Amino acid sequence: MDLSRARVKVVERVNITDSGCWEWKLKIRPNGYARVTYLRQSFYAHRLSFLAFNGHLDGKLDVCHSCDNRKCVNPAHLFQGTRKDNMQDAASKGRVATGDKLPQTKIHGSDLEHVLYMAKAGVKYKEIADIYGMTPQSIGKIAIKHNIRRNKK
Ligand SMILES: [Zn+2]
Repeated sequence: MDLSRARVKVVERVNITDSGCWEWKLKIRPNGYARVTYLRQSFYAHRLSFLAFNGHLDGKLDVCHSCDNRKCVNPAHLFQGTRKDNMQDAASKGRVATGDKLPQTKIHGSDLEHVLYMAKAGVKYKEIADIYGMTPQSIGKIAIKHNIRRNKK
């Protein structure tokens, strides 16, 4: 496939922002992404750009944005990953409601140490849960997993 025309097609349709994003200047779909027709096939603009500039596109993988700007089609801001990678990337940037809106079920690092410390010290699971935006059940599971037994009186 001759991709030079695809590259031109992409470059002609973007505005380059101060941050270096290539923002699609034509119609953007309600989901935040643009679509473009190339060789009578409809592509997401960022996927076509990835293909045009990298020369390959794995149809099974998502094309993710490192810049977090869905309108952006700068190939330097795009990488391929699985749907799961994309969701995790989104979650780590706070784009999906795993952080604040849904109760957390996992906890890591120093937070985990604090939770375990408090659980050992006998702080009520409900109180620990409130601090970390978790459910008491999750705290209970963590405690069991880490072999914390509470003295039952
Ligand atoms: Zn970008």
